[in-house]
Amino acid sequence: MQLLDYSLKEITDIVKELGEPQFRAKQLFEWVTKGAHYEEMTNLPKSFIEKLKNAGYKDQAIKIEEVLESKLDGTKKYIYSLEDGNVIEGVLMKYKYGNTICVSTQVGCRMNCAFCASGLDGLVRNLTPGEILGQVVAVNRDNLVKKDERAITNIVLMGSGEPMDNYDNVTKFLRLVNAEEGLNISMRNISLSTCGVCDKIYKLADDGFTLTLTISLHAPDNETRETIMPITKKFKVEDIMKAVKYYFDKTGRRIVFEYSMINGKNDNVEEAQKLSRLLRGVPAHVNLIPLNYVKERGLHSASKDNIKTFMDVLNKNKISCTIRRTMGADIEGACGQLRRKYLKMGE
Ligand code: SAH
Repeated sequence: MQLLDYSLKEITDIVKELGEPQFRAKQLFEWVTKGAHYEEMTNLPKSFIEKLKNAGYKDQAIKIEEVLESKLDGTKKYIYSLEDGNVIEGVLMKYKYGNTICVSTQVGCRMNCAFCASGLDGLVRNLTPGEILGQVVAVNRDNLVKKDERAITNIVLMGSGEPMDNYDNVTKFLRLVNAEEGLNISMRNISLSTCGVCDKIYKLADDGFTLTLTISLHAPDNETRETIMPITKKFKVEDIMKAVKYYFDKTGRRIVFEYSMINGKNDNVEEAQKLSRLLRGVPAHVNLIPLNYVKERGLHSASKDNIKTFMDVLNKNKISCTIRRTMGADIEGACGQLRRKYLKMGE
């Protein structure tokens, strides 16, 4: 049981149950949000901390095991360990407007996309809300310049795992990280990326979340998409388009489409034309991403020329589009790659 799993209201109940005065709840919640260890919670009585420990509440949800920093752009890759010995990874990207953390939502992944390292061993387990929040809290603490400032301004749920396959824990995490008395990160500054689990897209909209929805599309038609993304058997491209329209109507938020460019798979002009037709009239932005090579998957990135030509077609068709800058190229590790490397070192 990690304290980071709980909202202020739930912490208040715990504090009451342990027979402590109610004002301790806010103090405890603030410490936990800062990533403090029990020994650092200096305004709390030792006896209270003992009670918490005895009841089985942990001050930390995850532990940073390793940090790699890019000399090129300051990007940091993190390896974290969980209490049960599992290992996950994350990235911190530094931009002019602030720092963006990429968080994982599962250990492994069930989706098994043909280019992705995260699904190679299937799903190991879901992360708890506190383990997802723990990544933000730990990296925030690791990057503080001044004591009481907030180092993380933006969050993308684009690490390993499919967030919509861990819906309840992910949405609890969103509420916790958005809480005013917590890190208070606005929904506007959070992006959730999904391979297209459509029923959960409707649910997210109905549950009142207004974050930026990002769809990993990677192909404009079912035929091509099925060969690289098994989820297509369950949810078709048309289902995705219907779901995102619903999401847009409810939230007014433009939809971002991710399109990883794979040599010989989805990178020709015909595909670009099809994508333009699919997105015509949709409030959308397309991110073209050069594929990161994953040895076990064997797929290669589209050439620079093909990516440029693909973008030109989209632009000509008035589809808003950018080519994703590769960050931290010298420290390696897209989606699960770094974790695999780390696990292999231990073998
Ligand atoms: N499961 C979620 C979020 C995690 S992956 C999703 O599918 O969106 C984050 C993004 O990286 C997704 O768009 C995913 O398709 C993409 N991705 C995975 N492996 C990649 C690789 N080797 N090269 C480029 N992009 C990759």
